[in-house]
Amino acid sequence: MRRFDYIRADSIEHAVQALAAVQGARALAGGTNLVDLMKYDVATPTRIVDINRLPLDSIEETENGGLKIGALVTNSALAWDARIEARYPLLSSAILAGASPQLRNAATTGGNLLQRTRCYYFYDATMACNKREPGSGCPAIGGVNRTHAILGASSSCIATHPSDMCVALAALDAVVHVVGPDGARTIAFADFHRLPGDEPQFDNTMRHGELITAIELPPADFGRNHSYLKLRDRLSYAFALISVAAAIKFDGGSISEARVALGGVAHKPWRDVEAEQTLVGGPASEQAFAAFASRVLAPTQGQGDNDFKIDLSQRAIVRALTQAAAGTPQSQTDKRVG
Ligand code: SF4
Repeated sequence: MRRFDYIRADSIEHAVQALAAVQGARALAGGTNLVDLMKYDVATPTRIVDINRLPLDSIEETENGGLKIGALVTNSALAWDARIEARYPLLSSAILAGASPQLRNAATTGGNLLQRTRCYYFYDATMACNKREPGSGCPAIGGVNRTHAILGASSSCIATHPSDMCVALAALDAVVHVVGPDGARTIAFADFHRLPGDEPQFDNTMRHGELITAIELPPADFGRNHSYLKLRDRLSYAFALISVAAAIKFDGGSISEARVALGGVAHKPWRDVEAEQTLVGGPASEQAFAAFASRVLAPTQGQGDNDFKIDLSQRAIVRALTQAAAGTPQSQTDKRVG
């Protein structure tokens, strides 16, 4: 039996102090990933800090016209919030593409950012895995890797980040608010998750003792032209093989802004901001979308089982941008892609 301390935090300061005081402490919110990891002996925290009583469960307007989402807002509450549905429908759609209603009712916004890869080897404590046990090796390289990365992988790890919500947050240029022993700071979403490099045990750039308190959405105007397209092995309750969060703004008949983030392809939600610029000023044509996709995917590298993802990504990007341009976003209730 693995023993651990259990502390119920009664303030943010208390939570940070409890997290920072020992190595191996973990915050518990919805527990939809952490508890599974503990059952599989993949996560072995020395201390659990229960943050569920903290006042972090509201969505508030910001002075600049955006929204600040408390870290304990559940995925369901966020997806169905009227302000999110009206102003950030891309985010609602991405959340509803993920998991199941029961899981979304329990899972939190902050926890969604911290969920870990679903690499099969990572979850099998009898196997080597550099992410679980640094230096032990990566059996996914040359092994079973159908769901693994085609962008940004390293010789240490080819895992992917599993979140749908985070793909939309990347496209929306969200900002992560954290508090730690050295005070509060913000992290641009693009800088929050990291590529594996030679330290795949670190999924993100949070420091020891830090706690996510909120996710901030800057003002956005993608209410009409957006789409979250998720391709997976079955139509429900499956992680993405590839997902695309696409959002476009028009000025007359030309694109004035385009955002495209990819899920299921890398250790973090993947964006190529320079490539997005090549769409600006041009038409919303299949030819332009295909050229954009080719540019984004130029550095892809297959691992064998997942080679199919390269061509599928090309077509998924074109499809999602076409849906966004037409104002006909992918349905999350009828998931069939026409
Ligand atoms: Fe572990 Fe990463 Fe290799 Fe999977 S891909 S076995 S998570 S090191």
